[in-house]
Amino acid sequence: MPEGDTIYRAALALHRALAGRTVVRFESVYPAVTRVAADRPIEGRTIESVSARGKHLLIAFSGDVFLRTHMRMNGSWHLYRPGVRWQRPAADMRVLIATADAVAVGFNVPVAELLTSRQLARHLELRALGPDWLAPAFDREDILRRLRARAGDAAADALLNQRVAAGIGNVFKSEILFLAGIHPFTAVSALDASQLERVVDIAREQLTANVLTRAQTLNPFTGRRTTRSLDPNKKLWVYGRGGQPCRRCGATIEVRKTGVDARITYWCPSCQPRR
Ligand SMILES: [Zn+2]
Repeated sequence: MPEGDTIYRAALALHRALAGRTVVRFESVYPAVTRVAADRPIEGRTIESVSARGKHLLIAFSGDVFLRTHMRMNGSWHLYRPGVRWQRPAADMRVLIATADAVAVGFNVPVAELLTSRQLARHLELRALGPDWLAPAFDREDILRRLRARAGDAAADALLNQRVAAGIGNVFKSEILFLAGIHPFTAVSALDASQLERVVDIAREQLTANVLTRAQTLNPFTGRRTTRSLDPNKKLWVYGRGGQPCRRCGATIEVRKTGVDARITYWCPSCQPRR
């Protein structure tokens, strides 16, 4: 699942390539999008900005039109030079925005809609989002308060809850709790102030580091790294490593799927003891 750092990096790369440019071609396979675009054509508008809000990607066009997309599990944005062969089948294209020198293609993006700023401001999914882990104006106390409000939740669930703070998916959830030495199914209420602060600081640090080091790439599967190892096979501590030895202590990494959406959690039973 694309996480906040992926969306943020995609937004940065798309912003660099598209902002200030004129749209020469706009396509979508979604009737709800093309219907709006028929009334308010996107071709000829200037792309003002591309930004991330939690896991939503927002593209602002001149004249008060916004494209909101959400990648959910499998969606991704690619950026190509005109005429270059795509790395994904054309049948996977859901939205396409072309300028004179770049083509941005949203592949398998399951959610796309064109909105006015007024509709955007009232948007329920966006309004429900907590503050962004990657926001320049990061309010540590606010996020700590929001986490404490989920006292009865498992730490892993609270981190994943986009209403608490937006941008963490399953990969970072598992990695952050490993780095903090906290068992993922510990209730938030069982964590003391310093543990909670540690989780928040590690989360902010990891997400920020993963954006800053790879701002140029759009590919969600390259490079996410929490271990500081330069070995490409040792980028993550626990995520995706069920049954393998812990890189720190050698204990066997555990894995569990929970909830109706089968969210997956990895942890080291020795480095992250149950309290
Ligand atoms: Zn361990």
